[in-house]
Amino acid sequence: MPDTSTQTLTIEQANGEILLWQSRIRLGFALLIASIGTALLASDVVHRISASSVAAVVAYVLVTVLLTMLVRRTAEATQGVVLAVVAADILFIFAITGVATPPEYYGRSLLFGFAILHLSEFYFGRKIAWGALAAIVLGYLGMIRDVTGEGRALGWMQELWSLAVFVLAATSFIVHYGSFKERLHRISTLFERAQEGDFSEEFDVASEKRPDGVTMVGRAYNRVRAQLANLVLTDPLSGCLNRRGLEQQLKRELARAARTGKDVALLALDVDYFKDINDSWGHQAGDTVIQEVGELLRSIARGGDCVARTGGDEFTLLLPETSAAGAFRLATRVREAVSLHQFQGVSKLAVSVSIGLVADRVHDENILHDLHSRADEALYAAKDAGRDRVSIWTPNLRALAVTRASQQIARAG
Ligand code: GH3
Ligand code: MG
Repeated sequence: MPDTSTQTLTIEQANGEILLWQSRIRLGFALLIASIGTALLASDVVHRISASSVAAVVAYVLVTVLLTMLVRRTAEATQGVVLAVVAADILFIFAITGVATPPEYYGRSLLFGFAILHLSEFYFGRKIAWGALAAIVLGYLGMIRDVTGEGRALGWMQELWSLAVFVLAATSFIVHYGSFKERLHRISTLFERAQEGDFSEEFDVASEKRPDGVTMVGRAYNRVRAQLANLVLTDPLSGCLNRRGLEQQLKRELARAARTGKDVALLALDVDYFKDINDSWGHQAGDTVIQEVGELLRSIARGGDCVARTGGDEFTLLLPETSAAGAFRLATRVREAVSLHQFQGVSKLAVSVSIGLVADRVHDENILHDLHSRADEALYAAKDAGRDRVSIWTPNLRALAVTRASQQIARAG
């Protein structure tokens, strides 16, 4: 078996793992039954053990060992294998009850059956539990067939009545417990998504026809969802998205743009000479500049745009369905707005920003890395060209920057 402590398992692998540890319990149970039989024989409580009892124990052990070997070899258990194991459990229970119990106590096997049904639902889910129920009904009918009827130990009507009550109780259990597990699974999926920073979905309280404890957990999740999203996805200083929030939006928008084939624009913005602002006016004043730049950006961006603070004095804007021309207009507006803004605490100092932008048609979602690095390249070009400006990425931008850098090196040399 592979190391399953950290990896995510498929249903078949998880079932295989469960069957392997359960096989020890199955063999232990068969051993217990055999020991009880031997002890009863040795102490003369019973005088003989029928060949069919011995055959039932041997057959059960053989089936369990063979299926365990199969699961161990393939490291998984299909629904068919699980059903075979559960059916073997049920047949064993009926076989043992049939040979060791007088007919008037055959009803006990239904209690055993319920235990198996419960464990099947708990470990393998609703489908296997329905299969177990069918096997129990068939097994019970098979067991009582020869001892029921006129002048026999059991009456058909009484036995069918017992079976009907069992089926009713078992059905109610499978339906209720199954839906309980499904709803719990839905909530745990929401938490798993939240762990990855995805708070987009809420628990569907409207579909909860009969509210219970699970509904209360779902409601509680919905209440904290908004606060959690705020905490995890936004930057407290600027009020913009943080890097995590941006990455999430980027994934979503790029997937949408890949479907629609529309342009997406990315702007990389950095405050010019921000270190000087900190040095001259103090860190607190620097923080105010970051905060006010964030507010300005959010007020200028459109509803569908995303504004994120992605570094100390760096911001990134994602503009869905925007061409290079549209993005350039917005970037220019941002640059002008910052240069005209009266920042608190640094009012005598002119604050400016440099912006690099890239716009591209999205053919597949893997373009993300390229967009980031191209927007950065364009930003460096804007800084390099004197700051307080907007630069658009073009394929030869890198060549220009490299040429300029090598010229500088040559001059320095
Ligand atoms: P350039 O024009 O080349 O961008 O020069 P710059 O001085 O702005 O250089 P750079 O962008 O590398 O400087 C970022 C500075 O921002 C460095 C760091 O001291 C400062 N910084 C980072 N995070 C914060 C913050 O949360 N608050 C404040 N006040 N300053 C920060
Ligand atoms: Mg800077």
